[in-house]
Amino acid sequence: MTHVLSQPISEIKGVGDKFQEQLNDLGLFTIEDLLFYFPFRYDSYEVKPLTELAHNEKATVEGEVVSEPSLSYYGRKKSRLTFTLQVEQFAVKAVMFNRAFAKKQLNIGDTVTVTGKWDQQRLQMTVSQFKKGESKAQEPIQPVYTLKEGLQLQRLRKVIKAAVDEYGESIPEILPEDVQLTYKLPNRIQAVRQMHYPESRIMLKHAKRRFIYEEFLLFQLKMQLLRKKHREATTGNAQNYDNDKLTDFVQSLPFELTGAQKRSLAEILKDMKQPHRMNRLLQGDVGSGKTAVAAIGLYASITAGKQGALMVPTEILAEQHYQGLKELFEGRANVALLTGSIKGKKRREILEAVERNEIDLLIGTHALIQDEVLFHDLGFVIVDEQHRFGVNQRRTLRDKGLHPDVLFMTATPIPRTLAITAFGDMDVSVIDEMPAGRKPVETYWVKGEMTNRVLSFIQKEVEKGHQAYVICPLIEESDQLDIQNAVELYNQLAAVYEPDISVGLMHGRLHNDEKDAVMQQFATNDLDVLVSTTVVEVGVNVPNATVMVIYDAERFGLSQLHQLRGRVGRGADQSYCILLADPKGDVGKERMRIMTETNDGFELSEQDLKLRGPGDFFGRKQSGMPEFKVGDMVHDYRALETARKDAADIIMNGRLENDPAYRSLKNQLDQDPHLFGEVLD
Ligand code: ADP
Ligand code: MG
Repeated sequence: MTHVLSQPISEIKGVGDKFQEQLNDLGLFTIEDLLFYFPFRYDSYEVKPLTELAHNEKATVEGEVVSEPSLSYYGRKKSRLTFTLQVEQFAVKAVMFNRAFAKKQLNIGDTVTVTGKWDQQRLQMTVSQFKKGESKAQEPIQPVYTLKEGLQLQRLRKVIKAAVDEYGESIPEILPEDVQLTYKLPNRIQAVRQMHYPESRIMLKHAKRRFIYEEFLLFQLKMQLLRKKHREATTGNAQNYDNDKLTDFVQSLPFELTGAQKRSLAEILKDMKQPHRMNRLLQGDVGSGKTAVAAIGLYASITAGKQGALMVPTEILAEQHYQGLKELFEGRANVALLTGSIKGKKRREILEAVERNEIDLLIGTHALIQDEVLFHDLGFVIVDEQHRFGVNQRRTLRDKGLHPDVLFMTATPIPRTLAITAFGDMDVSVIDEMPAGRKPVETYWVKGEMTNRVLSFIQKEVEKGHQAYVICPLIEESDQLDIQNAVELYNQLAAVYEPDISVGLMHGRLHNDEKDAVMQQFATNDLDVLVSTTVVEVGVNVPNATVMVIYDAERFGLSQLHQLRGRVGRGADQSYCILLADPKGDVGKERMRIMTETNDGFELSEQDLKLRGPGDFFGRKQSGMPEFKVGDMVHDYRALETARKDAADIIMNGRLENDPAYRSLKNQLDQDPHLFGEVLD
């Protein structure tokens, strides 16, 4: 028998075909879907003291009219009514648009309750609703749901209310009682009701708390079970690498590994020796030496008789890795490059050599995941800048081998707390130490009016034999956005600098071979200044470049600015990052200030989270971050951490299988294999 909650929405009285279709459009098919379609916001007409109101937010206050309302007209038939309201001991100015009729209704001495947008600075309320008389003691908190065109909020509210009233009691509990008790969580039935129709802010808070925990616990259980499965799988490779060769290789490197590199390497090698499949994320700031660690891992696998693959997001980067690793592996391993622009006979030769096991390491772009690429025995897969690839792309590469060990790399520093808990299905290694002797990049924030001085600074650096990047945000002119145009900037700089100083232009619209040509010229110092969009953001290595100038820097996220800054400071000389920015608000100024104060990517990412909120942090979909309905990984990370520990405990003690109190939780997990989106398993 199907559960009552799995019945279609049309079971609810008053839901006809058209309405049902509209609900389906929102992804709502069953009664259960409806019950768990939570509001994204609540409107409340609770009267609050002035001191508790937030600037620019909707609020309700109650007061006495103390001035005769004055009405003025403007435009065609538009009107503006203003009056003064005494609220507590303050005179608040109330403004109402296009409600001329209200003038007659409002008289000095009347008590009114007004709702509208609150301007804290001017003590002013732009009134959207008013009511004569005192407010009722208890105004309901109103749910606001995400809608689609043609669907009215009132209608949706009504049908959800009907669902809650009629079917709410059938909602099954999935958290064991002792867990509810420990954290003082309301039961599931109550919590659903409170999410839609909260009796008070406090009750709402507890209901949310419950679903945040529930959601995080399910997520952690799912991820940890997956990870356990990986660990226990004996279907991976126990890579029997040659310790002597490996030691010799490490000793041949022109530097001593940092402590953090050694630690990460040990974690990787340990995984490789185990029969399970490695699924590890290697995190580290730009230039922290991730590639060096990855290379040692690759070499280990090669000495075990396997092949390696390194996939990177751009051709330029592929080329650079190829050059670097070919040199590093000279006399030890055969390295080949495969990108979209390698064609014809050469491509065929490479593909054949890979299949015949004559190539030990294949480096490339998305070209690596084409069907035509067949390995003889792929044992080690590395995906650099992993968030730039989708789950399917990563999986396709992995599946070109028989359970190869997989290492993902990212230079987007994710706050530690978050990384451990968020990537529940991956093990995480962190390189949180820079190689010794690096000179930190000096960062300056200057206003747009100083541009000329910045340009002469570039000139001075070039005269010393160095090179500079100049970054502008977009290629095409956009009137609304007032963004520097790369081509225009290039023309401007060329006019200023040439012929003494050569200027190049790089942007995403160039063909790959044009891009490569420009990059090559810059790498060989045939270009002094490179004007570019953010395409140089990823991984490019030109140690002779010492200046990074970023136009309109306030338009970038901190993490992105940090990535760009990482393009300089790669050689022995002092490097500089100059942020040209005229941020309007305090947050923008604060962000520029933070950039000038820290070079630590982890610190920056923590600050970025605080300032911008989690929403735009790392483009979650892209980075394979889970999407939660109620919880927020950043703001609720304590709950996430609690859930992580609890999940570990539940799994360790085999509760899901053995403890009847956990049966419904297990059912819930089994029910929905796509819970929290796709993961790499
Ligand atoms: P990432 O991939 O993290 O950006 P790389 O591995 O490319 O960093 O290293 C950046 C530069 O630092 C390279 O030129 C590399 O040779 C060098 N490097 C790596 N590890 C060390 C170390 N322990 N000491 C000195 N230099 C190092
Ligand atoms: Mg790198």
